[in-house]
Amino acid sequence: MKKFDAIVIGSGQGGTPLAKKLANAGWETALVEKRWIGGTCINDGCTPTKSMVACAKAAYTISHSQEWGITVSDCKVNLEKIIDRKNEVVLRFRSGSEKGLEKTEGLTLIYGEAAFTGNKTLSVQLKDGSLEEITADYILINTGALPKIPAIPGLDTIPYLTSTTLLDNKTLPSHLVILGGSYVALEFGQMFRRFGSQVTIIETASQLLSREDEDVSAEVKKIIEASGITVHTNAQVKKVELAGNDVIRIELNANGQSHAITGSHLLIATGREPQTKALQLDKAGILKDEKGYITVNDKLETGVPGIFAFGDVKGGPAFTHIAYNDHLVLFKNLVDKKVTSIKDRPIPYCMFTDPQLGRIGLTEKEALEKGYHVKVACLPMTRVARAIETGHTQGFMKAIVDAATDKILGAAILGEEGGEVMSVIQMAMLGGFTAAQLRDMIFAHPLYTESLNNLFATITD
Ligand SMILES: Cc1cc2nc3c(=O)[nH]c(=O)nc-3n(C[C@H](O)[C@H](O)[C@H](O)COP(=O)(O)OP(=O)(O)OC[C@H]3O[C@@H](n4cnc5c(N)ncnc54)[C@H](O)[C@@H]3O)c2cc1C
Repeated sequence: MKKFDAIVIGSGQGGTPLAKKLANAGWETALVEKRWIGGTCINDGCTPTKSMVACAKAAYTISHSQEWGITVSDCKVNLEKIIDRKNEVVLRFRSGSEKGLEKTEGLTLIYGEAAFTGNKTLSVQLKDGSLEEITADYILINTGALPKIPAIPGLDTIPYLTSTTLLDNKTLPSHLVILGGSYVALEFGQMFRRFGSQVTIIETASQLLSREDEDVSAEVKKIIEASGITVHTNAQVKKVELAGNDVIRIELNANGQSHAITGSHLLIATGREPQTKALQLDKAGILKDEKGYITVNDKLETGVPGIFAFGDVKGGPAFTHIAYNDHLVLFKNLVDKKVTSIKDRPIPYCMFTDPQLGRIGLTEKEALEKGYHVKVACLPMTRVARAIETGHTQGFMKAIVDAATDKILGAAILGEEGGEVMSVIQMAMLGGFTAAQLRDMIFAHPLYTESLNNLFATITD
């Protein structure tokens, strides 16, 4: 059995940099990957979707060019070429990561599926079917998550799509029906609407983006519906079936009323679940929570000393930058012998619809639930100079401020480049700036960020 100092299972955006850094620090390290280097972010998540969202935005801009005084006689979407372009970007990222790993001294890259056979021992089923037994003092699990498929009668009898398979579906859906009303559903929904598909979104909760404030969710819904997408909230799917060639029939109960819709394609975007099935965690005594996520403490250690889990597989906010930050916490604690925790770190995120929704900190609802006395700043994008100049006036900026200290508790920037503006607020929050300081700060004119002056000026005592 080959012995390493550390074994990292999974080459996601946490596993890849961690394995490299451990090896560079002199630890004999193995990185086990069953599929492709880069994990979800590069292969099925951020990179491919944002590449395709960019094409959808180009299609939208060209087909609406008259708004900018430009006449284009014809605009055709070639989905095959869009997918080819996406694949080129994905391959560039994947092979860049792969090369970086291959030339790292002290790092052994093992392509295969890892399963625990004991406390610190693993068996890896290699691509040729053979088994390799390995062991290490430290085992770091970064196996990510997969699309969760709900138990809906008939679903197993129809060719449904997931966020992974839709990325390579080269036939433009004539009518894409999407189950789910969160970030993945909305990004794909708007993208395919802009490619020319009819799109229907079905969400069980009473609002899209159920974690967000009602006003933010309502504005997103308004924007999505204005683009011609049908949205059903409070809707439960009762049954799905094939109703002829390329026709999927969906029976649902929406707001107490039963009806059926038909579509050409069905995307299941109802969340993700941890990828732990193959790992045989029980052989090492590693515990999971009720949803199947690996249980860790705030230093990312499981109940078994020396075995850690990070990224999506440990639950909590499922974002690339969180998996990446997890690896920094682990490296600092294991190699630099610091005591760093994942507690109280900021959780920024961005939904890449057009306009984007950039989010940081508490929502208004969360701030009130925590007992804060809040002041709310709100500025429609129709009052943002840059938005008017560029013709991107949908959405609004909203910030939640602690009335006692004037410190910013959170923000939702639903607008063009909303993610970038949110990041400026994130820095201000980390730096302890007050709303009044941002109201009076000098920003270059006419940036979107400059409108933070006007946003915070909407707060009156
Ligand atoms: C459609 C979509 C869009 C997204 N967009 C964004 C976005 O814009 N911004 C953002 O921050 N996040 C986004 N995410 C989420 C983001 O992709 C994930 O949070 C992130 O990739 C999780 O990284 P990870 O390191 O935890 O795991 P992953 O990247 O999932 O990596 C896990 C790796 O482990 C491997 N593996 C699993 N089991 C085994 C085993 N037993 N043996 C060996 N290898 C194994 C897998 O093959 C995989 O390569 C998106 C996700 C999706 C699905």
